Amino acid sequence: MSDVLIIGGGIAGLTTAHELLRQGATVTLLERDRCGQESSWAGAGILSPLLPWDYPDPVTLLTRLSNRLFPAFIDALRTETAIDPEYQASGMLVLNGQSGEAEARLEKARLHAAEVWCARFGFSMNRVRSHKIAPALSRDEPALWLPDVCQVRNPRLLQALIRAVELRKGDIVEHTEVARWNIAQGRIQSVGTSQGKEYAATNYLVTAGAWSRRLLREHALNLDIWPVRGQILLFKGQPGLLNAIVLQEPDKFYLIPRRDGFVLAGSTLEDVGFDKCPTAEAHEMLLAKARALVPELSPEMVAAHWAGLRPGSPGNVPVIDRHPVISNLYLNSGHYRYGVTMATGSARLLSNILSSRPQPIDATPYRWPA
Ligand SMILES: Cc1cc2nc3c(=O)[nH]c(=O)nc-3n(C[C@H](O)[C@H](O)[C@H](O)COP(=O)(O)OP(=O)(O)OC[C@H]3O[C@@H](n4cnc5c(N)ncnc54)[C@H](O)[C@@H]3O)c2cc1C
Repeated sequence: MSDVLIIGGGIAGLTTAHELLRQGATVTLLERDRCGQESSWAGAGILSPLLPWDYPDPVTLLTRLSNRLFPAFIDALRTETAIDPEYQASGMLVLNGQSGEAEARLEKARLHAAEVWCARFGFSMNRVRSHKIAPALSRDEPALWLPDVCQVRNPRLLQALIRAVELRKGDIVEHTEVARWNIAQGRIQSVGTSQGKEYAATNYLVTAGAWSRRLLREHALNLDIWPVRGQILLFKGQPGLLNAIVLQEPDKFYLIPRRDGFVLAGSTLEDVGFDKCPTAEAHEMLLAKARALVPELSPEMVAAHWAGLRPGSPGNVPVIDRHPVISNLYLNSGHYRYGVTMATGSARLLSNILSSRPQPIDATPYRWPA
């Protein structure tokens, strides 16, 4: 019997499995399909909130913790698996997109707020002309340059994580969907799966992303996690067309260049329940926005179009906590737009809760809502 049974093999489940194994626990992970194929695969891999100063402190503190843990985490994955997740500080260029006088005034106020935030958290930000960083852009305009923003290539990160968990003797069981909780004396005794098999462990951790609330059913209590569809268009460009992430205000449309020339254009925020089909409208909209920013990105260069379901949460603050009533049930979910960004910090907090270790940051903002 494992110390921890993890339900859901996305970035949250796999990173927590890796961290628990590192701390010496035994782990079984159940995934209803194949690991790393849902939101974590669909995501863009920016390791920062889009405009970090727009978010409440709990988002900033968890992001900063994760950012600190990421380099060693990536080094460990590379050494253990020889898979390169393409972690790099590509920086992010923020275009203001202002037109009229009123927007310019608003922009000035926002810029001041951003500078105050950067000074408070020691975050680098410079004012630049956009062509200095990205000559392929259609316009040369005043912009903000955030040089320390990193990115990762999601499918490779997930591939490395799956391999690393297996190498550390974590037991990954795919095509196994948890469908029932067997509870007695305030504790989970076992879970039943759609495939008919039962699994028992000392502790149970839900990392089922957008499906977490649905999986917990009546045990979700006041948990507020819902699916938010996001779509991305992928272009096959020449390496070097763009070297930095470009974020356009006010709609937060972004372009993310990978080393081999692929460019991701995203994304949408859609409230459509559990429907994760890409749409023709989003294809058209993302293509038009990408071409307006970088005219070289032509329709012929579109290589793929996909959608994923983010685990939405109030304020983008995840829940990383023990269940208020069921004493051996835990949750690490609700990372909304920043599940990859927050992965390492969230895994550390959850593992520390399980092993009663001291926390590196105040973990109370991530408690189960009362
Ligand atoms: C278009 C898009 C762009 C994004 N861009 C970024 C970005 O740039 N940076 C960033 O940090 N984040 C980004 N995100 C958000 C990020 O991808 C998510 O926050 C993160 O992937 C959530 O991870 P997760 O492990 O909680 O969920 P998931 O990756 O969805 O994993 C949950 C897993 O649980 C499994 N599961 C569900 N129910 C059961 C069950 N009953 N039994 C067994 N298994 C079950 C599912 O099959 C799935 O594999 C983006 C998301 C999208 C969609």
